[in-house]
Amino acid sequence: MQVKCSLCGKADEISKIHKDYAKLAKNKDAPYFCEQCSHRVKYQARETQNPPKPM
Ligand SMILES: [Zn+2]
Repeated sequence: MQVKCSLCGKADEISKIHKDYAKLAKNKDAPYFCEQCSHRVKYQARETQNPPKPM
């Protein structure tokens, strides 16, 4: 199934074993993040959870 990254717009091909496959198959408007962007999103989420403490 072909999907498009919601962040960078990169077209990607995902298979049935992809964790978001069922969600995206049901709802084509569900957000999908390519590998690169999901890494970035995860990283940013972690950064927001643990903001650097001022010295
Ligand atoms: Zn992307």
